[in-house]
Amino acid sequence: MALAEEIVAYALDLGFDQVGFTSAAPFDQLARALEERSASYNWISEGLLQLRRAVDPRLVFPSARSLIVLGYDYFKQSFPDALQGKIGKAYQARLYTDRRRIFGSRLRLFKEFLKEKGMQVGTSPAFADRQAAVRAGLGAFGRNTFVYAPGCGSYLSIITLAVSAELEEEARGPAPQCLPDCRRCIDACPTGALYEPYKMDPLRCIAFNTFAPGNFPGAPEDIPYAVREKMGSWIYGCDICQDACPRNQKKLKSKLPPDAYLHRVAAAITLPQLLHMDDRYYLAKVQPLLYGYIWEKKFIQRNAAIALGNSGDSAALPHLERAMEDPAEMVRAYAAWALGRLGGPRARRALERALRRENVSAVKKEIVAALA
Ligand code: SF4
Ligand code: SF4
Repeated sequence: MALAEEIVAYALDLGFDQVGFTSAAPFDQLARALEERSASYNWISEGLLQLRRAVDPRLVFPSARSLIVLGYDYFKQSFPDALQGKIGKAYQARLYTDRRRIFGSRLRLFKEFLKEKGMQVGTSPAFADRQAAVRAGLGAFGRNTFVYAPGCGSYLSIITLAVSAELEEEARGPAPQCLPDCRRCIDACPTGALYEPYKMDPLRCIAFNTFAPGNFPGAPEDIPYAVREKMGSWIYGCDICQDACPRNQKKLKSKLPPDAYLHRVAAAITLPQLLHMDDRYYLAKVQPLLYGYIWEKKFIQRNAAIALGNSGDSAALPHLERAMEDPAEMVRAYAAWALGRLGGPRARRALERALRRENVSAVKKEIVAALA
């Protein structure tokens, strides 16, 4: 069997759904986009994602000759209703690359296989996964900027590996394209982050705002007020522009077997529990669902405070009052915003009490803004 065929067969055997190859040449279109839209992307050009380096795989892995792109359909089991609108499906699917997790173990086996075949192998969060997937023929961009692959729609996790071997691109059928004149994803986006077909402003995107502000180097410290109001109940990620897509409806409506783990933990993931969680609860119940970008519980508490503020439910008031005594400044500041968002005499009294005892200026500022 030829090397490329062996690689494809092994990846499919490991449970990946799509495998493609492309050259390690730079992504010129990405370089142009980053240049044109520097205001949206400058903050993310360094640090974890290093978008500036993403334009050329050889900046990350100098001996790269080819890219192997793996696609994994993460929507093979049903997600619990209790987590709908709170945690994005990609995060619920627990696509950890850590070798102690099932997804990471698959990846480790695949990398070991490539090394046994004599290749040097490089992986990095800096690789431009979506660009690589499209160039390798796995799918095509939708107007919501997600990659759509045959059979799994946009619920596709993409992993790019750079290797030192030359691997020929395979001939593939046409990639699935957007429906003519469709704008459903753009119209559904609550914040206007999808401001044009194929263009998304991360600074306005709910998903980015659930994990980047105050967490990623270079990102804004705070979630903008205009975004907080539109976050609804999302505490990690946002699936709105994918769930609105006609091409994903078949998947969304299909009867899939339940994910037993998720269905077991979902009942424990309520907004008040998240807001008040201790380290033990965080590590046991919440952290396993935070694949990717959140490593401290205060960010989830912050997002739970915002979601409670957006709930319009007065039952949230005692929880937010209690959160005004949380040891984390961030939690107190966003609980103040949430009390202001809910409004009413009880919220006002809680904010006034908190203002008298608060001594951190950033939190005081939020309390004053909420009272106003
Ligand atoms: S993930 Fe949510 S906020 Fe971001 S572009 Fe899609 S719909 Fe808009
Ligand atoms: S909702 Fe319409 S425009 Fe958006 S990705 Fe789907 S088919 Fe394309």
